[in-house]
Amino acid sequence: MADRDYLDWPFLEPRHRALALELDAWAEGHLKEAHGSDVDAACRALVRELGSGGWLRHAIGGADASIDTRAICLIRETLARHAGLADFAFAMQGLGSGAISLFGTEAQQGAWLPRVANGEAIAAFALSEPQAGSDVAAMQCAARLDGDSYVLDGEKTWISNGGIADFYVVFARTGDGGGEGGRGSKGISAFIVEAGAPGFEIAERIDVIAPHPLARLRFNGCRVPVANRISEEGKGFKVAMATLDVFRTSVAAASLGFARRALDEALTRARERAMFGKTLADFQLTQAKLAQMATGIDAAALLTYRAAWMRDQGKKVTKEAAMAKLTATETAQQVIDAAVQMFGGQGVVSGETVETLYREIRALRIYEGASEVQLLIIARELLAGEAA
Ligand SMILES: Cc1cc2nc3c(=O)[nH]c(=O)nc-3n(C[C@H](O)[C@H](O)[C@H](O)COP(=O)(O)OP(=O)(O)OC[C@H]3O[C@@H](n4cnc5c(N)ncnc54)[C@H](O)[C@@H]3O)c2cc1C
Repeated sequence: MADRDYLDWPFLEPRHRALALELDAWAEGHLKEAHGSDVDAACRALVRELGSGGWLRHAIGGADASIDTRAICLIRETLARHAGLADFAFAMQGLGSGAISLFGTEAQQGAWLPRVANGEAIAAFALSEPQAGSDVAAMQCAARLDGDSYVLDGEKTWISNGGIADFYVVFARTGDGGGEGGRGSKGISAFIVEAGAPGFEIAERIDVIAPHPLARLRFNGCRVPVANRISEEGKGFKVAMATLDVFRTSVAAASLGFARRALDEALTRARERAMFGKTLADFQLTQAKLAQMATGIDAAALLTYRAAWMRDQGKKVTKEAAMAKLTATETAQQVIDAAVQMFGGQGVVSGETVETLYREIRALRIYEGASEVQLLIIARELLAGEAA
């Protein structure tokens, strides 16, 4: 049984505790069985199940509700502990529709958010490009105004849900970036592009170590109505960063879920594995490792729920979200690696829980800002503060 003490921490309210316990029970009933090897079909099924279970409505905000970052974090943490793909399906519904929840018009919110919430429409967030990953300001995908529509040309890559999404929030350059050669964070706008829009195609599907739908997208004279632009022209960078401020913290929460599962597995293994006439748990080397794992998880959880709580208080969380993501993803990688080590040969057998976790955690240190990028964000925020 995973540690639940953190549910009583002052960052969380009684409704959060109830939500986490209710979801845990739901996940026990719904996520025990694997959803098959067809990752597209598995994701579609999970989105539908999470929608009909009522969980996806927590992933969205909009006219009727504001985004509850702590609820999103608890849901991601709980789902990740049970099944990485379920966490992915939930997270992408939130990340993919986040710009609409935060900045969309009433019409945009009405058209998409209810369908995202009930699992009828699958969402995607398309920011990265082949030459613009960590360096978002190097974005080249362009949107040119032509009458009552924009014409999009360019590519996006590493797009989660690429190939199965019903709509993509796409960031493209509508003006000069403000820097050398037109690059920079200015002059970027956000658009809703529906799957099947003429001039939009899936250029390539990408296989990764923890399989989930992922693709490179191509726009070739793709027309998007002006009504599909989210927020004002040129405000796309702000839209993207505000969305990431919510979901970056939730990446930390997902890491906590993976790490807690690894610790549970390691505790069971340590108690049960007989060696040298004792059990693995009897050795102080093992005990020290378990203690480090649990301490690292709690430290990461404190940073994570602090950032989530601050955001729910309406405070700026750029630095705190970066600290949470950096610490939780790096800690989870170490915790999971230690669990694999305790399992010995069994730890690297395909399909073993700790082996799956080892593959699942890796990308979280890269996406939504690699660890090095989080360090730079933290330092930038520190240095921008008032001098003593
Ligand atoms: C599984 C997966 C899912 C993804 N899903 C999405 C999605 O849904 N939507 C989307 O838009 N993008 C998505 N991404 C893209 C992701 O955000 C980028 O991969 C990430 O921003 C890194 O960009 P890059 O891959 O181009 O690596 P690069 O920018 O080339 O960076 C490579 C490495 O350089 C290092 N680095 C970066 N900056 C610095 C620095 N200043 N100093 C020193 N070292 C540095 C980091 O270690 C980094 O990992 C996804 C990626 C993966 C792997």
